[in-house]
Amino acid sequence: MLSFFLLISAVRCDKIIYMKISDILNSKKAALSFEVFPPKTSDKFESVQAAVDKIAALSPDFMSVTYGAGGGTSDYTVAVTKHIKEAFGVTALAHLSCITSDRADVRAKLARLKEEGIENVLALRGDLPKDFDGKLEYRYASELVAEIKAAGGFCIGGACYPEGHPDSPTLFSDIDNLKRKVDAGCDFLTTQMFFDNDLYYSFLSKVREAGISVPVIAGIMPVTNAAQTRRMMTLSGGSLPTRFKRIIDRYGDNAEAMAQAGIIYACEQIIDLYANGVRAVHVYSMNKPYVAAQIKDNLRGII
Ligand code: FAD
Repeated sequence: MLSFFLLISAVRCDKIIYMKISDILNSKKAALSFEVFPPKTSDKFESVQAAVDKIAALSPDFMSVTYGAGGGTSDYTVAVTKHIKEAFGVTALAHLSCITSDRADVRAKLARLKEEGIENVLALRGDLPKDFDGKLEYRYASELVAEIKAAGGFCIGGACYPEGHPDSPTLFSDIDNLKRKVDAGCDFLTTQMFFDNDLYYSFLSKVREAGISVPVIAGIMPVTNAAQTRRMMTLSGGSLPTRFKRIIDRYGDNAEAMAQAGIIYACEQIIDLYANGVRAVHVYSMNKPYVAAQIKDNLRGII
């Protein structure tokens, strides 16, 4: 099934576009990107491919492809990233996590990314699976960033958390660690989702004060599933503002109403971000083409 993706890429590829995300961030005033996740198993390939293709056809400034926590989908991450780039000419970013990997494994994965012409990588620690009992060779994403930097030729992104990462005792200690990660070689950062833009503005001023000067892409999640969002926010330690809580309390049981309200809320956040000079927004579009399409359409006069 993996070869299915590669075959489609080869057939539709008439021009290959090579672009680093740092160049996009430097040149665009209002960049918009979408996120997709690869299939977990081969039987899901075709449905994921259909969704990815519809999102890529919207020509976002770039698309990112997540990486399975246990590493099971790492080949699929590469295949989907390559497909987006080659079949649609859309710049693509492959996520890569390190917590369960050893150095040889990471080096092999970086060599594979190079071979496939993928030059944008989001370097992540990942979370330890409950049943993992192997030896840990990487403790923090900064160690992976240093490894990717040493490999050369990649544009490197890192994750950041406007409300602080749940493992960190304070937001300030998290920002100190973020500075270490950026100093190891990050070219840009992307935030965890947030539902109150003031959290982002306040975070950005602290980040700049700490001497971090790379672009910080704002991560926005259009909520279409209230229960899933509540669970994710509990796990990540993020908060939901009262205004948004009222919306999900009212519409959370009605899928159509929740999706409509979630998309409108996300668009309002995005417009406010651009209006305040934020140059790049990443949408956690979760393989939902209708969400990506409505967002792009609502912003057509703006981006
Ligand atoms: P790190 O930067 O290593 O930070 C983790 C914690 O360690 C923080 O509390 C930090 O302050 C602390 N820390 C860092 N360095 C030090 C140090 N030197 N000493 C002491 N403490 C330190 N997960 C996936 O599995 N796949 C994905 O595709 C994926 N994509 C993501 C995309 C984005 C934009 C975001 C925000 C998250 C994503 N995640 C993904 C989740 C991520 O893997 C988890 O949030 C994970 O818990 C932390 O990863 P990190 O790269 O931020 O880790």
